Amino acid sequence: MDRLEEAAAIIRKSRNMIALTGAGVSVESGIPDFRSAGGLWDKYDPAIYASIQSFNSMPETVWKMIFEMIELTETAKPNSAHYALAELESMNFLKALITQNIDNLHQEAGSKNVIEFHGNASHLQCLRCGKEYEASGFDMSGKKIPLCSCGNILKPSVIFFGEMIPHEALSRSAFYASRADVVIVAGTSAVVYPAAAIPQQARVNGAKIIEFNIEETGLTETGTDIFIHGSAGRTLPRLVELLK
Ligand code: NAD
Repeated sequence: MDRLEEAAAIIRKSRNMIALTGAGVSVESGIPDFRSAGGLWDKYDPAIYASIQSFNSMPETVWKMIFEMIELTETAKPNSAHYALAELESMNFLKALITQNIDNLHQEAGSKNVIEFHGNASHLQCLRCGKEYEASGFDMSGKKIPLCSCGNILKPSVIFFGEMIPHEALSRSAFYASRADVVIVAGTSAVVYPAAAIPQQARVNGAKIIEFNIEETGLTETGTDIFIHGSAGRTLPRLVELLK
């Protein structure tokens, strides 16, 4: 039995499978992950630019990175990895999908029960007065930085390094992780906490961890039961076919 067939056999018997996805599942949609060479993250080190300290001290500079990310995500379309995960949900195998991505592509592919662990770029918030806005309500052509009615520079409602994870995302993820019997971990380096703790929590409760990645991660040695090597856009649809 190859590893994918082994994974399919485990999933067929599962009752509470969940998935944790990361930037790697959107790479085939043209959005670079943090580890890809070239592109956005070579220009803007996420450790510096995607931190709340940087946003607070130099919001105009951080908005330059945000505009480039918006440009990439606006035109991106879901790829076969997103569609395969949506299909696993409609086949009733996948009960919840926890994503670290902010690009909305899982929802566009048809996934319904999506927990956005790091927020979503379609909303903006004012860190001074707390007012919230739909990003689509602002004309950002010409890279005009959106301002709050109080005059403050708005921030996308995505979680920057150094910020708290939204309470609801944390509690819903903990709920699903505590009862999961299988966790699909796809396209994440599994180094950004607390998201990286989700498969570990589930494993403590006896869940099997099935990891899809183009290279081994920190989780592979210590927490993964089955490692499926290859691009998620190729391997996840093959898994769906085996489960049909
Ligand atoms: P990461 O960049 O740290 O890791 C990406 C992982 O995906 C790597 O392990 C890489 O080997 C793997 N990968 C790359 N291409 C793949 C493919 N085609 N198929 C399968 N695996 C592939 O990303 P992360 O673990 O998600 O953590 C970084 C943070 O960056 C997250 O918080 C996320 O919110 C944010 N981020 C989001 C986006 C997005 O929304 N699309 C893009 C970049 C970064």
